Amino acid sequence: MQTMTQRVFNFSSGPAVLPEAVLLQVQRDLYSYPGAGMSVMEMSHRSAAFDGILAEAEANVRALGGISDDYAVLFLQGGASLQFSMLPMNLLTPGRSADYVITGVWGQKAIAEARKVGAVRVAGSTEESGFRRVPTQDELQLDPHAAYVHVTTNNTIYGTQWPDMPEVGDVPLVVDASSDIFSGPLDVPRFGVIYAGAQKNLGPSGVTLVVIRKELLTRSAAGLPTMLNYAVQAEHGSRYNTPNIFGIYVLALVTRWMLDQGGLRPIGEHNARKAAALYGEIDRTGFYRGHAEPEARSRMNITFRLRDASLEDAFAVAATREGLDGLKGHRSVGGLRASMYNAFPEAGVDALVQFMREFERIHG
Ligand code: PMP
Repeated sequence: MQTMTQRVFNFSSGPAVLPEAVLLQVQRDLYSYPGAGMSVMEMSHRSAAFDGILAEAEANVRALGGISDDYAVLFLQGGASLQFSMLPMNLLTPGRSADYVITGVWGQKAIAEARKVGAVRVAGSTEESGFRRVPTQDELQLDPHAAYVHVTTNNTIYGTQWPDMPEVGDVPLVVDASSDIFSGPLDVPRFGVIYAGAQKNLGPSGVTLVVIRKELLTRSAAGLPTMLNYAVQAEHGSRYNTPNIFGIYVLALVTRWMLDQGGLRPIGEHNARKAAALYGEIDRTGFYRGHAEPEARSRMNITFRLRDASLEDAFAVAATREGLDGLKGHRSVGGLRASMYNAFPEAGVDALVQFMREFERIHG
């Protein structure tokens, strides 16, 4: 087997690139976590060492998002996909209906699961545009009595992102923020629930962050399966059973790294700079073209085509050879996709822009 000691620029949509400083720290502490004399993988989830790790993970998440005590911060399992079920099981109480805004496949999957639990309405959809945009406020038909409104903040596959969250009045706004959580400033009090699989901006897969307004926990019926009950998970501090302790440990380090960067404002500026550099190149000559409508362009997942689509495979293959990995688009959209989460370095964007210019020079 070929060994690879060099790291590539990893444009994967998730699991995705992690901060180098975090990887090195994990490597240093892998064999023996300081003070514990054992690896994090080997320690009890009730140990003092893990108490500290879990407390730090929660404190970092709260510090980053300015999240008050009005919210519970949970570290669950089952990915964002389990939240598609868990959310309606807890919040879609009998006799009510929930609004879903559909801006891509993940929203479709979320509403499909909710439909198995109770009544749902489509309050808006951009499917007719091939999910190249998100709805305007005027296009939404919101039920003022809805149990909640569900929105996917960033559409990983299509490369669209809401520039602002919609106005939903007094109805709790619930967001799947899996692919843009903590990618810039976040106005937490606007949300009832924020959930995200960790594997893009927060750490490795296997941990799902759920930030839920505590007053919503009263909706969780006692008859729910215990593991799927938000109130039980909150009461037990995410330790009703054995949580993903290694994943939470890495998440604690990633969120510590984010605080070291100065928090969400500078992180947002960094992401904006990276996205502007790549969209600038996509728009420069017409050899490339962006998939998403300009107003809805994502800063995290940048989807683009080549004018001559028959060159797209060659582009991805040649890019991989140059150490630019993971650029092939999702099979449902085709083309190319550069995912550039928080930990993705500016040098990687520069390298991609250089590669795009060279590819255009040869094939343009
Ligand atoms: N929602 C969004 C926006 C996603 O991008 C993904 C995964 N790419 C999911 C949900 C599903 O996440 P998981 O694999 O953690 O269930």
